[in-house]
Amino acid sequence: MNRLILKPGRDKSLKRHHPWVFSGAIAKIEGQPGLGDTVTVRSADGVVLAVAAYSPDSQIRARVWDWRERDIDAGFFAERVQRAAALRQSAADEGLRLIHGESDGLPGVVADRYADTVVMQLLSAGAERWRGAIADALAALPGISRVIERSDADVRNLEGLKPQSGLLRGEPAAGPLIVREHGLDFAVDAEAGHKTGFYLDQRDNRGLLRRLAGGRVVLDCFCYSGGFALNAVAGGAKSVVAIDSSGPALAAAQANAERNQLKGVEWLEADVFQTLRKFRDGGRKFDLIVLDPPKLAPTAAHAEKAARAYKDINLLNPGGRLMTYSCSGGVSPDLFQKIVAGAALDAGVDARIEYWLHASADHPVVMNFPEGEYLKGLVLRVGG
Ligand code: SAH
Repeated sequence: MNRLILKPGRDKSLKRHHPWVFSGAIAKIEGQPGLGDTVTVRSADGVVLAVAAYSPDSQIRARVWDWRERDIDAGFFAERVQRAAALRQSAADEGLRLIHGESDGLPGVVADRYADTVVMQLLSAGAERWRGAIADALAALPGISRVIERSDADVRNLEGLKPQSGLLRGEPAAGPLIVREHGLDFAVDAEAGHKTGFYLDQRDNRGLLRRLAGGRVVLDCFCYSGGFALNAVAGGAKSVVAIDSSGPALAAAQANAERNQLKGVEWLEADVFQTLRKFRDGGRKFDLIVLDPPKLAPTAAHAEKAARAYKDINLLNPGGRLMTYSCSGGVSPDLFQKIVAGAALDAGVDARIEYWLHASADHPVVMNFPEGEYLKGLVLRVGG
């Protein structure tokens, strides 16, 4: 039996059910666990704390599968996958995150459902070890025709894993993968798109944007496949400008506009920061600005640099709104609010918070793992 024995006093976080064991907490390894093998974790005085997956190359040396001693086998993954699926609302929308890693008791496993297709990401050695069992459990869910793998995120390097992608279960789809959200159809590029092909985490927030957009002059910065921009048009915006630096993302966005017969978006393939400077110099103003940048601040230390991204509040007309986000796990909601407040102060703008935003409910945060809360947003209203 493979065992990790912790140093004295280093069992506190596990006792609070935080699911990570850091390398520095380990006193001794018994047996010869390999990449992703199951280990029992014991305190210095011999108490069994958890069973976990061993990640020899990572600072997070083990990730907990369960808090009691038990076998980890295909049946375990079938149970966890079914539990995660049962916890999701049976929303009318076809796009849904089915498995959200630690929050579903499956560290390193992400699975997004788009209509009858599941796109899965395995991000830890333990998840990798159980690829077959996880894919089988997902394929067995009602209404699922295929499982596609997109395990190509950079974090796999930290786990000593190579990228891996492709169809794992079922037949290739006959046509493009389309997902319906708030009554709009979006094509999901499961093979080459970002993450698993679509930003499901912003679903509720795109719905809010639609409600706020009526009659407004809207700017969607970092628009990807057009999620916010097209909701703005559907919500009756007066005009919409959408910016992204990626040609393929903009092509997808334009195709999505046509797919939904939504006209009138001015799509700009450009760098957001340069374009905003141009707008500022030209005195161009908006009533509603969405700012949904990629991870600009991987850690709190980078937050100051990232703060520059949030200063564009001064492009708003009086009474206008800024909907602004950070998806960096290293920036807490509290720090994010401080960064945005600092940016408003620097811009000389009098602003108040109307909404505190998060990922949709299918991206839950288990209470003993606050790191799960990566996406946060604010809607600011500037003085009129
Ligand atoms: N709001 C989108 C998701 C945005 S993801 C949605 O709801 O689907 C972030 C996007 O920022 C990506 O499409 C990426 O191509 C784009 N991007 C990254 N850096 C950029 C830059 N400097 N200027 C413009 N776009 C950028």
